[in-house]
Amino acid sequence: MNLKRKIIGITIFMIFITTAVFGYFMKTAVYQTLEEEIDGRAIAIGKHFTELSADAYLSGSTSLLQTHLADYIKTENYLAYIIIFDSDGQIQAHTFPKAIPPEILAAVKNSTKEQSVHIFRRSDGIELEDFFIKSGTSRDGGVHIGIYESKIVDSINRLVVKLMPFLVGVILGGILIAYLLASAITSPLQLLSDGVKRVTHGDLDFIINVRTQDEIGQLAESFNNMTEKLRESTVSREFMEKLVNTMNDVLLVISPNGTVMNYNKAYSDLFGAISTGVNGKNADTFDSSEAPAVMYAAYKKSLEYGLVHGIESQCRSLSGNEIPLLLSLAVMKNEDGSPQAVICAAQNITNLKKSQDELQAKQTELEYVNKNLEEAVASRTAELAIGNEGLRAEVAERQKKTEELRAARDLAESASRAKSEFLANMSHEMRTPLNSIIGGTEYLESTQLEEEQRRCIGMIQHSGDSLLLLINDLIDLSRIEAGQLEILKRPFSLINTLERVIEMVSQSADRKKINLSLDCDARMPDVVIGDQARLQQILVNLVANAIKFTEAEGSVKVSTSCEPAVNELLPVTFAIKDTGIGIDPDKLDMIFDSFSQADTSITRRFGGSGLGLAISRKLVESMNGTFKVESVPGIGSTFSFTVKFSTITVESELTGKISKNRDKNKPERDVVSQAGAIRRVLLVDDSSENQALMRLLLKSLPLEIQEANNGQEALDMYTSTPFDLVLMDIQMPVMDGYVATKMIRRHEERAGLEKTCIIALTAHAYESDIQKCLDAGCDDHIAKPFKKQMLLDCLSRHF
Ligand code: ADP
Repeated sequence: MNLKRKIIGITIFMIFITTAVFGYFMKTAVYQTLEEEIDGRAIAIGKHFTELSADAYLSGSTSLLQTHLADYIKTENYLAYIIIFDSDGQIQAHTFPKAIPPEILAAVKNSTKEQSVHIFRRSDGIELEDFFIKSGTSRDGGVHIGIYESKIVDSINRLVVKLMPFLVGVILGGILIAYLLASAITSPLQLLSDGVKRVTHGDLDFIINVRTQDEIGQLAESFNNMTEKLRESTVSREFMEKLVNTMNDVLLVISPNGTVMNYNKAYSDLFGAISTGVNGKNADTFDSSEAPAVMYAAYKKSLEYGLVHGIESQCRSLSGNEIPLLLSLAVMKNEDGSPQAVICAAQNITNLKKSQDELQAKQTELEYVNKNLEEAVASRTAELAIGNEGLRAEVAERQKKTEELRAARDLAESASRAKSEFLANMSHEMRTPLNSIIGGTEYLESTQLEEEQRRCIGMIQHSGDSLLLLINDLIDLSRIEAGQLEILKRPFSLINTLERVIEMVSQSADRKKINLSLDCDARMPDVVIGDQARLQQILVNLVANAIKFTEAEGSVKVSTSCEPAVNELLPVTFAIKDTGIGIDPDKLDMIFDSFSQADTSITRRFGGSGLGLAISRKLVESMNGTFKVESVPGIGSTFSFTVKFSTITVESELTGKISKNRDKNKPERDVVSQAGAIRRVLLVDDSSENQALMRLLLKSLPLEIQEANNGQEALDMYTSTPFDLVLMDIQMPVMDGYVATKMIRRHEERAGLEKTCIIALTAHAYESDIQKCLDAGCDDHIAKPFKKQMLLDCLSRHF
């Protein structure tokens, strides 16, 4: 039975006992009190009637007595009877309606004493108490008063019945209080008890939630403190246990006298401790090959030699196999330094051993192989030594060959360099006299001439132009071959270029009555980015060839077509189709070689150097384009090439710019002559022919021309008198044009003079030469030979 029930049970029991005892004593006390009171009353009544009976006796009248008796018996209901005897012992009066029942009479007759009480039972069983009060005046007289004993009991019973609900209420209230009290006491106790149970089962996180200030509250707090302490220590213990049991290595703890104290999981896994029950056994009781015996032996040995680490031993495992172990022993000591336990850690080194054995085998094998290898190497080395000799000779041979090749390459390179230099010089040397020829004939043409003279001049002019063309072609070719050609990237108008080409060749087409037409793809943009001059050169070459190799009244058609742009590069194909003589299929490849023509006979009908196609194809290639030719002898040829141009979006603006530039380039013939004032011009040239030619060309202009024969002279003249313009030849003795220009510029800077316009006039026509002139300080450049108009245009620009 639990505490709560016990408390309730005991409390209820106590309530019952208390109520019963209380009731009993109450009842008895009430009974006694009531009886005493009734007895006292009976005596008082008796005394009252003794006096009344004496008076009646003396007066001889009993009527008053009788009336009193009747009153009393009516009001006092516990009175059973009143019998009055006179002094003679005769019945004087009584309360019975008739005669006194004999049994009562018999019961009351014997009373003689002054006052007596006696109890008797009536025949009907009712208990009566008879009081006798002796009268003072007579011998035998007195009053008997009978009282119903049972009436008192009845009154008390009635009282008890009345008290009953109260008692029941008290009992029920008591039970309720007992229950509440028991609950109040036992519920914290229950919590405590639960807590203890949970802690016993290892749940250390449980906290008892009792917040009372009494002893139970204190107990709960102490309990909580205790669990916390326990938790701290238990966690570490659990951790340690887990750690020890997680270890791969076997762990065994033996007391110094050999009793096994503890072991870990690795031990039981390997040696099966659970089934054998190792703990508490002495190491000596184990077989000498079993782990505890082996480890204890090792410990004893280690005490002897002082070594407790790295002992290798064999032990019998659970499966009965002998396994190699690596033992490591440590002595745990008591505070006084005496040994407390020996901790043996053992590592199963079966795999290690196996690996070691394998390694050993491998090493042996390796040694064997090594030995073989050494032998093989020795024999091979001997073989190689022989081979080496041959190899060395071969290497020497190769080196010699390489040297020869290098020398040949150097020779070729220097030859190529010499060729380039030669070409450049030749070009210069040829341009210089040509300048005089072309310039001179141009001048002569403008003079009064006879018809024959004029024809002659025309011939000279034509030859000069052809020669200049050839020289230009030669220069181009040499520069392309030397990789010196630069392809420009500038916006220009395709349609303008095509129209200009047509314009340039139209005269010769007209002469042969050839139908020359231009057909442009509508999708072709006007402005593209590329090298306009080179494109024009190619087109002129091809169209001129088409006209040249087409009989009179044939046709030449120039057309373009565009593909959609890829990566903002627009491929444009230019095709020149003629109805000319065509080319033999076996000659098609050859015509692109320099100086080669399809018709090599000495009687060939068409002139030409054989350079045009070679240059054209190389130019197309340097623009990353492709070149194609289709031809049927007697029907005609189609030369076509495709070049990719970058396109630009702001076309309108650029178109505007280009057309404006073109306007600017339009001849401004009379600007110089219109200027009015006479200008001073310094003409620097070492060639007297050129000086004379320049004078002739500039004769009509209002210019005062002074001549200098070289740079030095020019500089001297310039520093003494200022000029409005200098025409500077470049290649001159004493001081060349570059140096002279630089010196003039330096002089101007020092003297704080305004810059005079210096125009370079040179037969060095490479783009790099032009740049060199501009770098030296020239404002412009005219390549020799030049047409008069070119010179005039330039002068008018700078004036
Ligand atoms: P050139 O025209 O100065 O001889 P090219 O290199 O321009 O040199 O041409 C090489 C040769 O290719 C020409 O001599 C000619 O035989 C042939 N050829 C070029 N264009 C045509 C053409 N349109 N029709 C027929 N033959 C051509």
